Amino acid sequence: MHEMSIANSVLEALEKEARRFPQGRIAKVGLRVGELAGVDPGALSFCWEAVVRGTNWEAVELEIEYSPRRHRCERCAREFVVKDFDIACPDCGEAHTVFAGGDELDLAFLEVDEDEPYRVGKEGVERK
Ligand SMILES: [Zn+2]
Repeated sequence: MHEMSIANSVLEALEKEARRFPQGRIAKVGLRVGELAGVDPGALSFCWEAVVRGTNWEAVELEIEYSPRRHRCERCAREFVVKDFDIACPDCGEAHTVFAGGDELDLAFLEVDEDEPYRVGKEGVERK
């Protein structure tokens, strides 16, 4: 099952990142899931509960940040969310626009000790 392997990958990433916070308790892990990533959020939540059951991470909540498909217009530089497969630019009507996002499957954030959120940036985990 696709979602099960994703849940396992998230858990591996969580275990790796958790070493940075030996004193902290991780409350929540955020995953950015693109519209085109082919992931069923309901199935993923279900799999997450299954992989953390009976582990130290049982209380960690998985939050899914939905990321819609986006295109960018090369004529007017407008970036927009694609609805109903209509990729024409909503501003200038340009029909040829380029893909600009929506296939993400990334660790977005970790919430440590409820009131201390950390973002996962290019350099790893950093304070928000
Ligand atoms: Zn345009």
